[in-house]
Amino acid sequence: MSDQAGDTPKMIRLGEGFHVRQAVDNIAWCDLGDGLVVVDALEEGHLEEEVFAAIESTCPGRPVRYVLNTHTHYDHVALNEAFVRRFQAQIVNQGTAPLPPQGRWFRGRLRKAHMMPSPGCHTSEDCVVFVEPDGVLFVGDIFGWGVIPLTVNFRAETLRLLEDTYRRLIGFGAATVVPGHGPLCTSAELQRWLDYLHALIDQVKALVRRGQDDADILQAVTPPDDMTGWWRFLKWKHADSVAKVLRGVRNGWL
Ligand SMILES: [Zn+2]
Repeated sequence: MSDQAGDTPKMIRLGEGFHVRQAVDNIAWCDLGDGLVVVDALEEGHLEEEVFAAIESTCPGRPVRYVLNTHTHYDHVALNEAFVRRFQAQIVNQGTAPLPPQGRWFRGRLRKAHMMPSPGCHTSEDCVVFVEPDGVLFVGDIFGWGVIPLTVNFRAETLRLLEDTYRRLIGFGAATVVPGHGPLCTSAELQRWLDYLHALIDQVKALVRRGQDDADILQAVTPPDDMTGWWRFLKWKHADSVAKVLRGVRNGWL
C-alpha cells in the first residue's frame, strides 16, 4: 500500500451497520441494535457535516449513544462535542468517565462492545475496544504501522509492557484490527511489529558492542523488505524507531 492510499479518506464496511471512515485519522461507528457506538472522533472539527452525513446514510435514523475515545489526544476527540450536541451522546474515555480495570460493556441486540483500559504504551489513558461478534479490535495509537508508540523513554520495563500488551491484543484473535491512524490491519501485523522491535534492539545492541558510532548505526540498520509498504514507515517511522532504540541502548535503559 502506498502512503497516499492510507491518507485518502475511504469508507470501509466491516458489517451491517458497522463502518470505518479510514484516513490519516480514523473514526468508526457500529450499530449495537438500538443505537450506535462511535470509536474515536478525529482531529478536524470541520469534518462534522461530512461525518454526520456518512453516519446517516449508512445507519439511517440511528442515534449515536456513546462516543468511545481510545485516548484523549487532540486528534481523537475533535467531534466529541458535536456528538453531544446532536445526539446527547455519552462521551466515554479515561479522562471524562474513568473505566474500572475490567472495562465497560456496551450491549445491544446485534452486538456488544467491550472497552478496556490498556495503559502505558502510548498514554496513561489508553483503552482498546473489542466488538463482537464481528471480531473487530480498536487499538488506538498502541499500534502505529511501525512507530514505537511510547511518549516516554524506551526502557526495559516499557519493552515488557509493550510485549505483554501486544500478546494480549493478539490473543483476541481479531478478524480486523483498527489503528487510530491509517490503514486497517490484522493481528499478523501486530506480531510482525513485535518481531521487528526485538530484531531492532538486538541489531542496535550488537553494533554498539562493536563500537560503531551513532551515524553509522542509523545508516546500517535498514528497514526489513516485507515492511517497506507499511504506511509512512520509510518516510520516518523506521528511522525514528532506530533512533529511539539507540537512545535506550546508549543510556543503558534497554
Ligand atoms: Zn495519540
